[in-house]
Amino acid sequence: MKVLVLNSGSSSLKYQIIDTSSGESLIRGLVDRIGLNLSIIKQKRYDGNVYEVEKEIISHSVAIEMVLKLIVDKQHGVLMSIGEIDAVGHRVVHGGEKFSRSVLIDDNVIKAIEEYSEIAPLHNPYNLRGINAAMKALPSVPQVAVFDTAFHQTLPEIAYIFPIPYIFYEKYKIRRYGFHGTSHYYVSKRSCEILSRNINDFSVITCHLGNGSSISAVKNGKSIETSLGFSTIAGVMMGTRSGDFDPYVILKIMEKEELTIDQAVSLLTKHSGLLGVSGVSSDMREIKNASKNGNRRAELAFKMFCYTIKKFIGAYSAVLEGPDAIVFTAGIGENDPDVRELSLSGMEYMGIKIDKVKNNSCFGKEMVISTDDSKVKVLVIPTNEELVIAEDVVKIIKENENE
Ligand code: ADP
Repeated sequence: MKVLVLNSGSSSLKYQIIDTSSGESLIRGLVDRIGLNLSIIKQKRYDGNVYEVEKEIISHSVAIEMVLKLIVDKQHGVLMSIGEIDAVGHRVVHGGEKFSRSVLIDDNVIKAIEEYSEIAPLHNPYNLRGINAAMKALPSVPQVAVFDTAFHQTLPEIAYIFPIPYIFYEKYKIRRYGFHGTSHYYVSKRSCEILSRNINDFSVITCHLGNGSSISAVKNGKSIETSLGFSTIAGVMMGTRSGDFDPYVILKIMEKEELTIDQAVSLLTKHSGLLGVSGVSSDMREIKNASKNGNRRAELAFKMFCYTIKKFIGAYSAVLEGPDAIVFTAGIGENDPDVRELSLSGMEYMGIKIDKVKNNSCFGKEMVISTDDSKVKVLVIPTNEELVIAEDVVKIIKENENE
């Protein structure tokens, strides 16, 4: 099957066509700055052919129409006709407690995604724009929603209830949901395959470290703990998001600086993390450059980032009663040996021993980077959320055909 995978954000639309018989990505692209003064479209085909253009794109509907034209373009496209698209898979950030797996999109699913917009205002409304636009453009093609939260629906109550009055869970469904689920699912499954382990007897800590970061504890194929929470602010320190800290601090700052709720949200989501501490950048490469050039706060931000990862790995090792493996993935996890080394430093007593030569030679490829005698295996695995989405689409469509 040829599956169009869509990831629709507030002003962007990422797309890929995946041939599920081979798992290969045939073409991928990004429409950026939708609705802003000049949008940018970048597309790359499997053979390296690149197409890039600046154009006015006023809405997600216009963006989808543009994408559909580009993928059948004689010079830069990959399909002969749009009719070759068998199905569409949509990344949807929040599926609440209702969706513990992917689902064929119908009116009820759209209504539920709409309802969860209240708890995911920065994501679900834009995911819905992509869904509506794709359904309009491809009305007879089945469309499937794949939720970022679904993989974490196996968290036990002790992990997802917050230590605040229980009534708020009952009234507003305030609880830990977790995100990056497709990525944690993919790398946990892949690590089990690489190590030739039985999924029913395998514990792994998965570290998804990108602009947004999260760490999960996965036992026997199920997520049992994860660092992101009700929102995408919790857990480890991130590029511009704070991660966990004393919650009273934000109330104190709001009082002192007379901040509105929106301003406080902006402080926690756009001005904190690596950027907030360093004052330099949210980008790990720039943080490291500044640190090498003697910027003390950039060095502090780098060290804090690794320290929070180390604390989560320690905590989740306890939760799993000893993991078999630790995986690093996403932009920083896949490409930064220094972060991997510092985050795992001093953990030899726990059976975690990194092979420095292997670690320093691993950039964006699958590799075991622990020493041969390390009890806990450490792996780098490039994530592939689009492949998970495409494979889920095939599974869901087959299930529905058999019903
Ligand atoms: P997201 O998908 O959450 O936007 P990514 O997974 O693309 O983010 O990760 C972006 C992060 O990865 C940035 O902080 C960037 O600096 C970092 N990154 C990318 N390549 C490297 C590299 N070679 N060394 C260190 N960090 C890198």
